[in-house]
Amino acid sequence: MTYKKALQHPVFKIISQSADALSVDAYVIGGFVRDYLLERGNAKDIDIVAIGSGIELAQHVADNLPSKPKVQVFKTYGTAMLKHEDIEIEFVGARKESYTEDSRNPVVENGTLKDDQNRRDFTINALAIALNKSNFGQLLDPFNGVSDLDNGIIRTPLNPDITYSDDPLRMMRAIRFATQLNFTIEDDSSKAISKNKERINIITKERVVTELNKILESDKPSIGFIHLEKTGILDYILPELTALKGVEDIEGQRHKDNFYHTLEVVDNICKTTDNLWLSWAALLHDIGKAPTKRFYKRIGWTFHGHEFVGSKMVYKLFKRLKMPLNDKMKFVQKMVFMSSRPIVLASEVTDSAVRRLVFDAGDNVDDLMTLCEADITTKNPKKFKKYHNNFKIVRDKIVEVEERDHVRNFQPPVTGEEIMKTFNLKPSKEIGIIKEAIKEAILDGEIPNEYDAAFELMLKKGKALGLKTS
Ligand code: ATP
Repeated sequence: MTYKKALQHPVFKIISQSADALSVDAYVIGGFVRDYLLERGNAKDIDIVAIGSGIELAQHVADNLPSKPKVQVFKTYGTAMLKHEDIEIEFVGARKESYTEDSRNPVVENGTLKDDQNRRDFTINALAIALNKSNFGQLLDPFNGVSDLDNGIIRTPLNPDITYSDDPLRMMRAIRFATQLNFTIEDDSSKAISKNKERINIITKERVVTELNKILESDKPSIGFIHLEKTGILDYILPELTALKGVEDIEGQRHKDNFYHTLEVVDNICKTTDNLWLSWAALLHDIGKAPTKRFYKRIGWTFHGHEFVGSKMVYKLFKRLKMPLNDKMKFVQKMVFMSSRPIVLASEVTDSAVRRLVFDAGDNVDDLMTLCEADITTKNPKKFKKYHNNFKIVRDKIVEVEERDHVRNFQPPVTGEEIMKTFNLKPSKEIGIIKEAIKEAILDGEIPNEYDAAFELMLKKGKALGLKTS
């Protein structure tokens, strides 16, 4: 069988001609071939392996492309990259790798195509299609990768214990591909991952997070997190989550397993939005529950203040994983901190409570509602419907209150400057007191969010504070 159809893009003809002109064998390999066979859409990354110099081949291809793109050369890795239209093409010379104990960076020497396929992480990523004229379109599949693709299996070409130990990033990649493709990790691989779990520590945090993000961007991230937990890797990278595992029972009173609950919430979020940071918020929304868990004879299990504790933990976790400590982190913190607010509200939807929610959540109020809806994981259909209906009422009320009161991006209707001018004041604490009183009165619905009403209240408050108008 020939796979010429995979090579319809005109760039393959040019690579083919260049390879023949230089008398090197060239193949397209890895993700492009895998995704073509899975019909996952047109890949924008193409990896080419040359039996010889990848850099020379890249240069020759660039010279023959009408756009004459620049070739970026990475000498240390012996690779070269060029951009053609919206495609990135990477060229590498076939290589043979050997590893040392303390690093995932191998010692590299030139090799054959087979050597190069041996060093690939999974059978489904080792598939190659030949590009030279004599064998254009021929598939080279030494490890039955096609059959693994058909059966949905993640398997390493060589001994999994060595493969994962050599480069422990592959453990994360195995779990990530299993999640993205909904594939099974072959048993020996799973065992080898468990055995080598501690070696995840030699992987940089940034790479671990890249894989976590890809898991969180999948349709069903729980697949990945269950693998991470079962193999023991999760304990090394996100111990805050494994701490949520388990159900305790004291005198017949039980709480839910907050780990599995969390995973359901994450899956729910991924069905409704592709906001990665909201997925992180879902993943972390209950992490404060482990350190705040208490049991009281009369009331049972409580997690008092877990939202506040959880939001503090978010900072430490982001810092440890070298994640951005910017507005993204603040967004996750805010979502965790506010994650119970709409739930409290849903039992009794008052205007003033909704105004406060909108005021506190600001522009993130819709994301917060989405998170809270995803948080409904009850298996009781009646309750499920009731809770969703309540949130629908909250959502409608948010729109109604916002149209009338405009508190989403609250600007005090009377400024501090105006207060100073009215009472002939220098900057002082009275200004803060008056401003706060106006804000509270608006949020409580005592006065509308309008200038005249606020001005009148300012005069009243000023008088009560013993201030004289100028
Ligand atoms: P995706 O684009 O979804 O990440 P991909 O398979 O294209 O998928 P890349 O990271 O671009 O992923 O890697 C390209 C190819 O390089 C892979 O298909 C695989 O053959 C090989 N590869 C990547 N990382 C490793 C690794 N850590 N160990 C062995 N082979 C790897």
